Amino acid sequence: QLPTIYAITPTYSRPVQKAELTRLANTFRQVAQLHWILVEDAAARSELVSRFLARAGLPSTHLHVPTPRRYKRPGLPRATEQRNAGLAWLRQRHQHQQRAQPGVLFFADDDNTYSLELFQEMRTTRKVSVWPVGLVGGRRYERPLVENGKVVGWYTGWRADRPFAIDMAGFAVSLQVILSNPKAVFKRRGSQPGMQESDFLKQITTVEELEPKANNCTKVLVWHTRTEKVNLANEPKYHLDTVKIEV
Ligand code: UDP
Ligand code: MN
Repeated sequence: QLPTIYAITPTYSRPVQKAELTRLANTFRQVAQLHWILVEDAAARSELVSRFLARAGLPSTHLHVPTPRRYKRPGLPRATEQRNAGLAWLRQRHQHQQRAQPGVLFFADDDNTYSLELFQEMRTTRKVSVWPVGLVGGRRYERPLVENGKVVGWYTGWRADRPFAIDMAGFAVSLQVILSNPKAVFKRRGSQPGMQESDFLKQITTVEELEPKANNCTKVLVWHTRTEKVNLANEPKYHLDTVKIEV
């Protein structure tokens, strides 16, 4: 029995949302034993996402939690509440098990690009595994530096003082570790930009303990791609289309 991969994806309503989710589902559908935890940043589950998930052909869980308005500001970390909702669901679902089912959790933003090889790599995570991330931190890539099979530092161009200088897309955690650290969550209070990953990882592991994947962290299997803002300058204010179409 393969360990289940739980992918927690925060998502929010915007013109490209369905396109992003379509791309992501097309990737996830090719991965065996994957459970998608999609968490909407919204006061309720939207019809668009509900309909989408119903047809996605993937084992999934549809959650929602709105980001408080005061946290919707540039420079503040995004999707903190949504990732925590995913963690809470996982813990709740497995709370009655004596020993955790084999499982691996990772945080999959809806706009990144994931190779299928990445899932093979993360599937064997024992506690916390790490790998390079492409197109991030103002560089072509960031990566953990590995010596003799251990992480000894970070190749990064941005805030090298971070205890774990790694993007959200650069690590996975075993279900066992999530369950045995029930208080580990993403924090709002005192969290500086770019420190979310470090703040979280500090609660569950140490740098010495990290398991390097992707050939000792020498292969880029995930890219921190970002989608350009759509041009809607020619949307009509009147003479609307005669049918209502979901995009
Ligand atoms: N996100 C969200 N609410 C927001 C902004 C972002 O749920 O108000 C989600 C988004 O869909 C993505 C993740 O949080 O899955 C990270 O956001 P984004 O990709 O904008 O961050 P960046 O690429 O700048 O790291
Ligand atoms: Mn992004």
